[in-house]
Amino acid sequence: MSVGWLRACALVMLGLFSVTALAKDKTAIVIGGGLSGLTAAYELQNKGWQVTLLEAKPSLGGRSGMATSEWIGNDKTQPVLNKYVSTFKLGTTPAPEFVRTPGYLIDGEYFSAADLATKQPATADALKRYQKTLDDLARSIDDPQNPAATNTLHALDQITVSSWLDKQNLPATARQLINQDIRTHYDEPSRLSLLYFAQQNRVYRGVSDRDLRASRLVGGSQVLAQAFVKQIKTIKTNSPVSAINQDKDGVTVKVGSVGYQADYVVLAVPLRALNKIALTPALDAQHLAAIKGTNYGWRDQIMLKFKTPVWESKARMSGEIYSNTGLGMLWIEPALKGGANVVINLSGDNARVMQAFGDKQMVDQVLIRLHAFYPQARGSFTGYEIRRYSTDPSMGGAYLAYGPGQISKFWRLWERPLQRVTFAGEHTDTLYPGTLEGALRTGQRAASQVEDLAAGKSFEPAKVVPAAAAAAGAVAAKKGNFFTNLFGGSDDEKKPEPVKAPEPAPAPVAPAPAPTPAPAPAPVEAPKPAAPVKAEPAKKAAAKPAAKKPAAKSEAKKPAAKPAAKKAEPAKKPAAKPAATTETKAQ
Ligand SMILES: Cc1cc2nc3c(=O)[nH]c(=O)nc-3n(C[C@H](O)[C@H](O)[C@H](O)COP(=O)(O)OP(=O)(O)OC[C@H]3O[C@@H](n4cnc5c(N)ncnc54)[C@H](O)[C@@H]3O)c2cc1C
Repeated sequence: MSVGWLRACALVMLGLFSVTALAKDKTAIVIGGGLSGLTAAYELQNKGWQVTLLEAKPSLGGRSGMATSEWIGNDKTQPVLNKYVSTFKLGTTPAPEFVRTPGYLIDGEYFSAADLATKQPATADALKRYQKTLDDLARSIDDPQNPAATNTLHALDQITVSSWLDKQNLPATARQLINQDIRTHYDEPSRLSLLYFAQQNRVYRGVSDRDLRASRLVGGSQVLAQAFVKQIKTIKTNSPVSAINQDKDGVTVKVGSVGYQADYVVLAVPLRALNKIALTPALDAQHLAAIKGTNYGWRDQIMLKFKTPVWESKARMSGEIYSNTGLGMLWIEPALKGGANVVINLSGDNARVMQAFGDKQMVDQVLIRLHAFYPQARGSFTGYEIRRYSTDPSMGGAYLAYGPGQISKFWRLWERPLQRVTFAGEHTDTLYPGTLEGALRTGQRAASQVEDLAAGKSFEPAKVVPAAAAAAGAVAAKKGNFFTNLFGGSDDEKKPEPVKAPEPAPAPVAPAPAPTPAPAPAPVEAPKPAAPVKAEPAKKAAAKPAAKKPAAKSEAKKPAAKPAAKKAEPAKKPAAKPAATTETKAQ
């Protein structure tokens, strides 16, 4: 063998060795143990990264962690979710027929969609008309990834959903049901950008309820979170991150006085939680405005438990039921140990007006309304569980719901990394925000962005449509065209509407005549904090060459059909919680 050949072999070996050495050293911190953060950590770890996941709470799974019964779509509508379900070999049960179509509780009387057509034809016709108008609107968006593609579409972002609904002259009951549907899946129509609503309906256009509500994960989405947790080697719970400092060599993440260092960070926390993390260098004005201003839908869930069903029959009160009288959207949940459960979803301003109430008072308010229709309710009531996503400071709302003007300002903002930090979370997904699928997709995207950054890729700033275009769009809408015909074209369309009180909201009858439920409802037991995790700083990353700074969802949502039943989170099964105390596991 020639000397030259030997030398070449040696160089190749050396090269291979240094690549391996480098690969071993790749370190990343994932902040937030919801499904997006768990996905990012899992994917990075699989690609050879040394990952530390930091979660503020004692348990993992974030907003998904408390549910046991949301419906999931099939692999046509939620491919990423289904891929993990099969990777982790998770059990599912097919959805029964009744969850496929919504029902209605009108002044206390239950109607299936078919009942409505025969018994309340005016309401049924108005709902159909609304569906058609909405479908026309959704169809006008060619590319849901770029909803503000034209000036005219851009103008829709300046309009609220409620002002668009006002133009449709819907009969009162139909309007109440539509409002309830919209606030359940997004937020109060008066707080919602019409462009966002149209874009989401475009995304889910043509997707059948059958595909959207195909099955249930046995044990709920927390089972999925648990499956990720089992795979991830280093997780630290009870670790609220307070600061992130980036410099040319890496990132330091602070949890109290403890600093963790790594090459890259995936920031997978909701925007309100991000507001409490100090970033150095500081975020620019646009990011700060997005953190403070981006609208989140509000949704709180109350599960009322009864000795026996107080509604007419278990079979009739199932699926998603939209009430017109302050009970929000409700559904019946199987009770695990006998009895009967109903889950009441208060959303939008119905949830906001309840903010001042304690849990027990809130339950009383709901029970008063239920009791008015079902007189056995009080006597049969045994207790409740409650989840208040809206006021939880680590969430700040249930899920992203762009308000008027916000797509114009913040569209795809969080898809772009800031130096060594990439962003994940349902709010960063363009197609499926507010869903498990969206959260999982963004975890994958953020993980691959970290890889790209390490490989020296740079990311272009996200395109934001200039304000001038918005103004031009508004003018176009005023002149009269397909869109103006659609919503009447008045000047007030452009103004974000002041919040209107939702109709028959669970009025905050302050010191309400409490419905003396017997026995006093036992408040939900708070999840036991896990044994505190020893804050052990992650291994400091060996000083690395400064990475060449690079930097970077179909389901036609029928109006009522955001991916299936939103989660009911009934009786918390301790066994089904993601392992809460996760410390650095054996490597
Ligand atoms: C009521 C309700 C019903 C829903 N129903 C459905 C449904 O039926 N189908 C569906 O697909 N989706 C549903 N969703 C949406 C779905 O649950 C969410 O989109 C998804 O769980 C969000 O995951 P995430 O990782 O983006 O955020 P999260 O789950 O919120 O995770 C963020 C994590 O970051 C942590 N954190 C915050 N601040 C810090 C900090 N400073 N340091 C460290 N950690 C921090 C939080 O504690 C949390 O664990 C529902 C959501 C709600 C609220």
